[in-house]
Amino acid sequence: MSPPWSKPLDVDRLADGEADIDFAVPLAELPRLRSQLASVDGMVRGRVHFTRESGFVVADLSLSGAATLACQRCLQAMTEPVNSSVRVALITTEADASRVPEHLEPVLASGGRVTVGELVEEELLLALPIVPLHAQASDCAASVDAPANVTTASHSPEQTTQRPFAQLDKLLKR
Ligand SMILES: [Zn+2]
Repeated sequence: MSPPWSKPLDVDRLADGEADIDFAVPLAELPRLRSQLASVDGMVRGRVHFTRESGFVVADLSLSGAATLACQRCLQAMTEPVNSSVRVALITTEADASRVPEHLEPVLASGGRVTVGELVEEELLLALPIVPLHAQASDCAASVDAPANVTTASHSPEQTTQRPFAQLDKLLKR
């Protein structure tokens, strides 16, 4: 059985009913998110409320949770908190995107249908870093031994650059 968040919803009917849908979406099951990130896990929960504005079906989406991503410096897991609320205009053709008011985020609902998973995915593609990194290099796993690398790297170029300058000095004195 497919989970509720992956069922295509008739957005017109939901807007007419001013519907609220509560959801819990496992991030590892969102295909576009998975193809964008080296590794993704975790769960977001939230609620989407359907209404109408400016002739569009509008989905008010709020979600929170945490994404577990792979740090691209040390390749260890890191947790990125997710807290978003966004007002989405559901458009049925790409051409409608230009008519969407600026404060709304256009999202394509082909054939007037969209899944909660697609809405969540769309928001997370914008909210999550494409290249996730621990905030500080020192937060990265010790196996990277970044501090040791930094000190040796800053010493050896200094020594090699001093020699050419010394030679240049000798040449200029002649
Ligand atoms: Zn790291």
